[in-house]
Formats: sequence, C-alpha cells, structure tokens
Amino acid sequence: MTGQATVSLQLDPRRLHTLIQREEWTLDNATQRSAELYRRGRQALSGGVASSFQVRRPWPIYLADGRGPAVWDVDGHRRLDFHNGFGAMVHGHAHPVIGRVVGERYARGTHFAAPTEDAIVVGEELARRWGLPRWRYTNSGSESTMDAIRIARGFTGREVVLKAIGSYHGHHDAVLAPGTTGSDQAGGAAPWGGAAAPGAGGTPAAVARLTVAVPFNDAEAMERAIACLDRQSSKPACVILEPAMMLGMILPEPGYLEAVREITRRHGVVLIFDEVKTGLAIGAAGATGRYGVRPDLVTLAKALGAGMPCGAVGGSEDVMSVVEDGSVYQVGTFNGNALAMAAARASLLEVLTPGAYQHLERLSQRMTGGCQRTLDRHGLPGYALGTGARGCVTLAASRITDHVTFQAAQNPELSKLIWLYYMNRGVFATPARPEQWTLSIAHADAEVDAYLAVHAALLAELAP
Ligand code: PMP
Repeated sequence: MTGQATVSLQLDPRRLHTLIQREEWTLDNATQRSAELYRRGRQALSGGVASSFQVRRPWPIYLADGRGPAVWDVDGHRRLDFHNGFGAMVHGHAHPVIGRVVGERYARGTHFAAPTEDAIVVGEELARRWGLPRWRYTNSGSESTMDAIRIARGFTGREVVLKAIGSYHGHHDAVLAPGTTGSDQAGGAAPWGGAAAPGAGGTPAAVARLTVAVPFNDAEAMERAIACLDRQSSKPACVILEPAMMLGMILPEPGYLEAVREITRRHGVVLIFDEVKTGLAIGAAGATGRYGVRPDLVTLAKALGAGMPCGAVGGSEDVMSVVEDGSVYQVGTFNGNALAMAAARASLLEVLTPGAYQHLERLSQRMTGGCQRTLDRHGLPGYALGTGARGCVTLAASRITDHVTFQAAQNPELSKLIWLYYMNRGVFATPARPEQWTLSIAHADAEVDAYLAVHAALLAELAP
C-alpha cells in the first residue's frame, strides 16, 4: 500500500510562527550556560558538537547528568528523557546493575583486544534471541551495517546493495548514496534547524551507483528492481531493511516481510535486517522476534552496549562462513571490548529481561492510548503508534506506509514547535523527529503521564 493521500494538520503559518518565537525565546533564556559553552565549544569542535546529529541553532543544549528516567542540562534543568540517546538508553540512565558491572570490570582492566568469556556469553544470548548462530562485534550501528554489507558482498561475489528509500543505516558510503536516504528528496535541512539526515557529500559517485533504493512496504517494487538489476548482470548482493522502519514509525504491512524473505531467498540475495534501532528496544529479539521473519544477517548497536559504544552482526552459519574462513575481513581494535561486553552481558541477562519488555509494552500502551485520546478529543488528524520502547505520534489523516507518505505529512515548522514545546515543559525529546519517543525501563506511569500532560497542552494550543 503506497502513495496514498496524506493530509497533515493544517495550521495558520502566522500562528505557528508566533508560537515558535514564544517558545524559542523561553528556551534561549533558560539555556544561557549552553550558549556560553557553545561559544567556547565551537572553537574546538566543528559546530560546537561531537556529531552533526547534535547540531542545533542558535546553540545545542549541553547535558551534564542523567539518572533513571531524567537528564539535567548544564543550566540545571531536569527533563524526563524520551530521547534516550537516540534509543540506546532503554535501561534508563545510570542503571545500578550496569554501573556495578562496569565498575568491577574497570578494576580488572577494560581493554585487551583479546577475546573474553563475556563476549561468548553475549553471543550465545544473541544467538538464542535471534535464532542466528554466529556473531561478531563492532563499535556502532554504522560499523555493523558496513560489515554486514561487506559480508553479503563477499558471500555472493556481487556488489549492488538494495535498500528502502528514506531508510537510514549509518554514515558510510554504501548507505548514504544520494537519492536513497530520503533527506535529499526532502530538500535538505532537518525540521529542527540542524543538519539534515546526513548529506552524501564526500561519497564517491562510483560507490553511490552501487546502491539502489525501492519504496518500503512494496514487495512487488523490490521484486521488479531485483529482476531488472539481474537483467543488467548486476543482481544485488543484499537487501538491507529496517523491518519496522523508524522514519517516524512505519510498521511493515501484513505479509510484507514474509514476501521480502521469499523474494530474496528465491533470488539468492542476502537479507539483512538492520535492527540497530529496533533490536532490544521493541522486544527481546527486536523486530525479528516480533514479526517472526528471520533474515540471513542482523545488525545491532544502540541498546546492546547499555550506554557503552557497541554493535554486533549476527548471521546464519552459511553467510558468516566468509568471516570464519577469512575471505571477508571483520576486524577492529575495540571489537568485543571488555567493558562493553561486560555491560552487554549484564544488560541482556539481568536488565533487559522478559519482565522489562512487559513493563515497556504496558507503558507504550499508556503512551499511545493517552496520545490518541487527546488527538480524538480535539478532532485532530493523527494517530499514535508504539511497539516496546519506541513510539510515535503522526499528525496525518491517513497511515504513513513509506517514505512518500511520510514526506507528504511533514511540516518542519510544526516539528520545530513540538520539540521546543516539550523542552520548555520538562521533556527531553528527540530533536530530528520530535514526535518520536524511546521509553526506558526507568520510566513509570508518572513519567508517561507527565509526557501526556505536555502533549495535551500542546494539542490544546494547536486545535482550531
Ligand atoms: N542503522 C539504523 C537503523 C540507525 O537508526 C542508525 C543510527 N540512528 C544506524 C544504523 C547507525 O548507527 P550509529 O549512529 O551507531 O552509527
């Protein structure tokens, strides 16, 4: 189901502008220490930040502390964290179990570039959860998708990568090709005034030509693309997909993932599920467990390290054999770093337990139920979706199913207002897509209700 009409909330642009000005004034006044740090920070750091995702005008909000469900900025403001480090901190901040284990590990040495028992235990647990027997570690989501694509290329002896338009899989050349990330189609700047979903400057054209994108939730388009590439003697090495696409939040239509599995298997194309965002956040075994379709390779990062930089690639014995036999080089000084592995082990075995996911699911229902009731009360077009820790309110009359319908519903000014509104009322929200949230197990009903109260106040202001 693609290309359906999507109508976003219609707002008087002058009113929107006035509200943004009011909220900007409030936030700027309250964050003068951040302004000072920005003036200093931009001398040493490009744009005053560590990553372009952190850019914000007129200055980024610098953080000082995080505990449980909350973070504090350098001006001392406490906000409930619904950003959670782009979805990595589903444990909440400074979780006592992770803290204890990291402290103990530190005292015994943190880095050896030699394997440890923890690395085996983490691999065993990931194999159990994902039903994929062989694992390797990386240090980030980008490294995971980069390695998975190289493994697929090595395994098939082919070069082309097929992805979904608008999906983000990290900052390496194969997945940042122009015309495939959606940011270039959107016309550049992200709604909150920072850098767009990264541009593709610096990506060699020769590499970009090896990446082809098709719409999400359209198995026929994928089949056509594979057949067409095959006729040109450039059959893809792999299809890389977020099984539930975190563009806002786009769930797979019934039967889509099964069809993708069948098509890729029939054509001998390696299927990679990029679960950097969904894995360990929307369920104990991510989207793979939730939707019951098993890929050939899966990529993880974010929540895996419980706050330490850590990623993983898991796969079938068959596909991962190219790593074992050395024909594909999968290496890295910090891969399987002892501190990250100790944190991941404790996280998987003691923190992200079945009970944790039940808790997240219950909170998610409270979030989506509350958001939806407020939308309905005001008769506003939109819907709330949540799975596990992740969720989203989409202000559109009909369901978003792919990148085209997502773009049609975007109003960058409204997104900016929403983010500012939350920030000024004690909610730390994800900047690029303000209505996207990540819950943590440190959240409880009180935190959800606080979010819902801000949501209700905002919608009351927006209602015609
Ligand atoms: N894949 C997906 C689906 C992601 O959402 C991201 C980051 N948001 C990445 C890969 C890249 O991860 P990292 O930022 O850790 O490199």
